Amino acid sequence: MKVLVINCGSSSLKYQLFDMEQEVVMAKGLIERIGLEGAQLNHQPKGKEKHVQAADISDHKKAIELVIEVLLSSEHGVLHDIEEIEAVGHRVAHGGAIFSASILVDSQVKEEIRKLIELAPLHNPPNLLGIEAAEKLLPDAPQVAVFDTAFHQTIPAKAYMYSLPYELFEKYGIRKYGFHGTSHLYVGQRAAEMLGKDFSELKIITCHLGNGASVTAIGNGQSQETSMGFTPLEGLTMGTRCGDLDPAIVPFIMEKEKMGTEEINQMLNKKSGVLGLSGISSDFRDIEDSAAQGNDRAKLALDVFVQDVKKYIGAYIATLNGLDALVFTAGLGENSKEIRAAICQDMDCLGIKIDSDKNHVRGQEADVSTEDSSVKVLVVPTNEELVIARDTKKLIRLTPNE
Ligand code: AMP
Repeated sequence: MKVLVINCGSSSLKYQLFDMEQEVVMAKGLIERIGLEGAQLNHQPKGKEKHVQAADISDHKKAIELVIEVLLSSEHGVLHDIEEIEAVGHRVAHGGAIFSASILVDSQVKEEIRKLIELAPLHNPPNLLGIEAAEKLLPDAPQVAVFDTAFHQTIPAKAYMYSLPYELFEKYGIRKYGFHGTSHLYVGQRAAEMLGKDFSELKIITCHLGNGASVTAIGNGQSQETSMGFTPLEGLTMGTRCGDLDPAIVPFIMEKEKMGTEEINQMLNKKSGVLGLSGISSDFRDIEDSAAQGNDRAKLALDVFVQDVKKYIGAYIATLNGLDALVFTAGLGENSKEIRAAICQDMDCLGIKIDSDKNHVRGQEADVSTEDSSVKVLVVPTNEELVIARDTKKLIRLTPNE
């Protein structure tokens, strides 16, 4: 069974084609600058040369057309017939309080995703465009939506409610939703497999540390608490997002700097985080390099980030009443031994001890804890696309018509 996984951003589209018999990636790629000048496809077919192609791509439908064309091409393709694609799995950012699991797309599901645009104005619209374009271009392939928020729907009310007037929750759905759920679930389950234990019996903290970053407490195989909130802005300091703030700072800045809602939103989401603190870059590699060369603000940005992660780990050990495994994933968590070491430094009082030799890993699964660490510290590369493909396969198999 071949499943196409699609992840649409506002001007980009990532795709992976899976052969689900062996769970291998047959081809993957990225289209950037959709609707803009200089749009480009980067396509990597298995066992063939990488292919880069400039193209005029006015919208997401054109982008998916190009993906299908290149998948079928004799030179760069991996398919003979479009019918070979049996199903399409879509990453959808916000499933609100309605979707607690992946679902087969029908008109009602699309309508619910549309209603949730209010909560995810930047992400749900392109996700929906991707679904609608794929429906038109692959009319015989069922579509499945996999939500970034779904795994966190098990978080109890005491953790998802904000202490605001209750009517605001009722009127607007203002509560914590959490994001990166597919990634937290995947690395949590992999951690259990690596330890040879039952996922539902472990207390796990998963640290998804990339350009966007979040920490999740997993107990009984379920998300118990997570650091992102109503939007992905809450929680840790990130590449360009500020994370947790005293909310009084927001109206204070708006008044002092004469900012409107759009400007303040832009500042908190795009100009803050380690970029705002360092004034150098949102990319942690640049910040690490500058800090190593003695730049004080780069060092401060890293210190703030590390402090945030430590704080959440401590809090979530309290939430879980203990910890079996601490898991690092995503760009920074998988690749930066310095950041992992800094986060785990002076955490022995919580049973966390990292082995500096074992910690010399990059982008591969590893147990990096010392022999006497009571908490297993693990590096697990995330694979959200594989989870989407697996969920898609599962739902298609469950459908009576198929
Ligand atoms: P992601 O959003 O998961 O793609 O992660 C992107 C972030 O991971 C960027 O800030 C990168 O600088 C960071 N990253 C990727 N590789 C490394 C590395 N080898 N060392 C430090 N940071 C890295």
